[in-house]
Amino acid sequence: MVACAEILRNEVEKLVSAGVDHIQIDEPWLLLLVDKRHRERMGIPDIEREIETCVRMINDVVESAGATPTSVHMCHAHFARKRYADGGYEPIIEALADINVDRFAMEFAAPESHGVEVLSRFPENKILGLGVIDQIDQNVESPQLIVERVEEALKYVPADRLTLNPDCGFSPSAQNPMDIDEAYLKLRAMSDAADQLRKRHG
Ligand SMILES: [Zn+2]
Repeated sequence: MVACAEILRNEVEKLVSAGVDHIQIDEPWLLLLVDKRHRERMGIPDIEREIETCVRMINDVVESAGATPTSVHMCHAHFARKRYADGGYEPIIEALADINVDRFAMEFAAPESHGVEVLSRFPENKILGLGVIDQIDQNVESPQLIVERVEEALKYVPADRLTLNPDCGFSPSAQNPMDIDEAYLKLRAMSDAADQLRKRHG
């Protein structure tokens, strides 16, 4: 894991040199820890030790980002239009404060996230990337539904620290079929909802 962090840290350095506006890292492990079945499958008795390792590895990777804004994306993993894991963010929400990135892109449209109430403990020094599109569900969300999802989250995180994103990437492949028109319509609905929300909240 330490060897992988070294490779990613070098990539971050190169991205900064290239002048990118933002660097997002996909974190593949942290959120899976909330799922009891995953912990049993992997033989993980001590979640706190795992969380501490994840925080340390991410911080090692982003150390060289300097002033370039950074995000971490966390999801329940998906394949063949199914999510791998099930569980809310409660066991890991406090640890997010210790991760040295600016923003967290998290799944909240997913039923497997079990609601936004956990955001009452979202760290005050971070920006939330609120997942409002469920990329597993083939029904295209209406802008109204997305607005309602955001209004619910705004009870816990103020508008100036809240951004919108799909829960996860659409990542099409032979094993993970994803219709490009469906993805387009979902992103367009998110954009329409964002317009409405900007008018309402600035
Ligand atoms: Zn993801």
